[in-house]
Amino acid sequence: MPEDADDEAIKKAYRALARKYHPDANPDDASAEERFKEVSHAHDVLSDAEKRREYDAERQFARMGGGYGGGYGGGGAGGGAGGFGDLGDIFGSMFGGGGRRGGRGEPAARRGQDLEVEVTLSFDQAMSGAEVPVTLEKTEACATCSGSGAKPGTSPRLCTACDGRGQVGRDIGGFSIPETCPECGGAGTIIEDPCTDCRGSGVRSAERRIRVRIPAGAKDGTRIKLKGKGGAGMRGGQAGDLHVITRVMPSPVFTRKGDDLVVEVPITFGEAALGAKIEVPTLDGRVKITVPAGSQDGRTLRVPGKGAPKLNGSGNGSLLAKLRLTVPSSLSDEQKEALEAFAALDGADPREKLFR
Ligand SMILES: [Zn+2]
Ligand SMILES: [Zn+2]
Repeated sequence: MPEDADDEAIKKAYRALARKYHPDANPDDASAEERFKEVSHAHDVLSDAEKRREYDAERQFARMGGGYGGGYGGGGAGGGAGGFGDLGDIFGSMFGGGGRRGGRGEPAARRGQDLEVEVTLSFDQAMSGAEVPVTLEKTEACATCSGSGAKPGTSPRLCTACDGRGQVGRDIGGFSIPETCPECGGAGTIIEDPCTDCRGSGVRSAERRIRVRIPAGAKDGTRIKLKGKGGAGMRGGQAGDLHVITRVMPSPVFTRKGDDLVVEVPITFGEAALGAKIEVPTLDGRVKITVPAGSQDGRTLRVPGKGAPKLNGSGNGSLLAKLRLTVPSSLSDEQKEALEAFAALDGADPREKLFR
């Protein structure tokens, strides 16, 4: 950016960048939001006459020192509006400890952290899908200083020991070996007045409550990856991902077997022997099934489409009705008589095979 960039050029560049990175134009993009804040801050600095003077002085100094100029795209006279560059980059160079600097050139963009969180769902929530509140401990750019680490209204100053390069040459037997600048710890800038909210680190650990949408059919131990919902990236870096692991409480009625649901259905001896039409519970009500005459204990009847919803949305598994023969624990005199009459008629010995 030319030193004499007039206010009109600053405004113009600012407006273009603000449009590009505005949160409304980039919903759910944490890195754009980050950039937007940076650009706004850079604009504040450049439109404030006092700060602008400091900034220009630093650049003047840098050019004389020879180490800092590259980061500004060569700076200077011929630049004009076209050489104005990216305010965000200017910001990065000036304030972001590891920002784009002459000589090294690479911005120290850092991807946000991946986060993992466990949510516990009731069985019904897992079956129908749910939106659950989740509290996350995320690393975010400090809102107070927009990630610069410097107290609002102040700016980090260029490290004079290394001219902002973050490295100094150490002379060893006539060779100069670069090593991390001891003054600034390699940042290239020194924060004299650190932001009190983040103690100069530019990042803060913030507790965030968000709502996470769990699709219908989540199992116990299902991992759901929510891209870009993890920690915010630093200095234009990508946001990390959020991995949600679902824990599902057991149901008093159903047991899950893949996408099938097993339900144990008690039936009477009469129903098992004679056959019957009975009702069994489903996720959303009940369904009538036919117990064939002569069904044994443990027989499983399949009802397609009445199981658990498949996570990929392709319909439901089956309901498996497992028949459980029940024996009455007490009988009326009449029932007793009827059963005795039945027993007298039942000639087959069920244990015959055991003694062959
Ligand atoms: Zn801060
Ligand atoms: Zn230094």
